[in-house]
Amino acid sequence: MRIIDLHCDTLTECEKQGLTLFNDHTQLGFGRLGKDGWCQATAVFMPDNLRGAAAVEYFDRVYDYWLKQLEQHKGRMAEAADLEKDCLASPECPAAFLTVEGGSVLAGNPDRVSLLAKRNVRMLTLTWNGANELGGGQAEDIGLTAFGRQAIALLEQNNIIVDVSHLGDKGFWEVTQLASRPFVASHSNARAVCGHPRNLTDDQFRAIVKAGGIVGLNFCEYFISNLGPAQPVECLLEHIRHFVSLGGADHIALGSDYDGAPLPLWLDRSEKLDSAISLMIKSGLESALAEKICYKNARAFFARYAASAVGEEP
Ligand SMILES: [Zn+2]
Repeated sequence: MRIIDLHCDTLTECEKQGLTLFNDHTQLGFGRLGKDGWCQATAVFMPDNLRGAAAVEYFDRVYDYWLKQLEQHKGRMAEAADLEKDCLASPECPAAFLTVEGGSVLAGNPDRVSLLAKRNVRMLTLTWNGANELGGGQAEDIGLTAFGRQAIALLEQNNIIVDVSHLGDKGFWEVTQLASRPFVASHSNARAVCGHPRNLTDDQFRAIVKAGGIVGLNFCEYFISNLGPAQPVECLLEHIRHFVSLGGADHIALGSDYDGAPLPLWLDRSEKLDSAISLMIKSGLESALAEKICYKNARAFFARYAASAVGEEP
């Protein structure tokens, strides 16, 4: 099956551990992806204890590592700089695009938005769990700051997709008021199925659907159920069925969270994803819906996002 995955922390983890993106140790390895074509969002994760100049310095270090990895693995992986064109990676050469998990990367400076765009950052998760210059995450639900409200427009102008995963509920609803382009929750599940505050309420999911956005299913065991690493495939299927029941069959994608979370055993390595999808299909997931979730919905979202561009020549 082709794959488009909207979130992993593998890049950050590899930089930290001094590994290449093609290693065998991390949950995701670029040499261990399915062979039907794989496009992977690779996040620079911004820790909540870094702000201002320290956050910028940290981002620059991981970004340097990213550039070196692209250079080192030329021909074995490619940067999907234009998501609409590049998201269906060739089977021989997986594609990856850069995202940032945490608006502290802006250090409160609006000029940094266009700088990130020039560096091909395609998506920004506004917060992690704590508060930063843009607003409050789910553990510190203070809403958006004035700079956070300004940043939504700047991100949209610079074609950087707004990501509300981790954002507190108050900030979420402010984004729905401010966003003029479709936005995403790159790695979040259904709160009605698993009551974790990192998951989306039904109203939040409906608001993302209404905006033409998309939600990546998170494989983190805590956000699927409370049954731990041995939980069965049915637990993730319940989230899919719930989102479908809310009218979201065209708005569910993958947001694995590889290398950012403990995952159920049947899903915990990137090379298992093909068999994991087969397992879900055997357990009742319709093949056509599986295809939508694995890549078709994300591809359609990238097209909608590109079509919604503001202030550009036709
Ligand atoms: Zn995350």
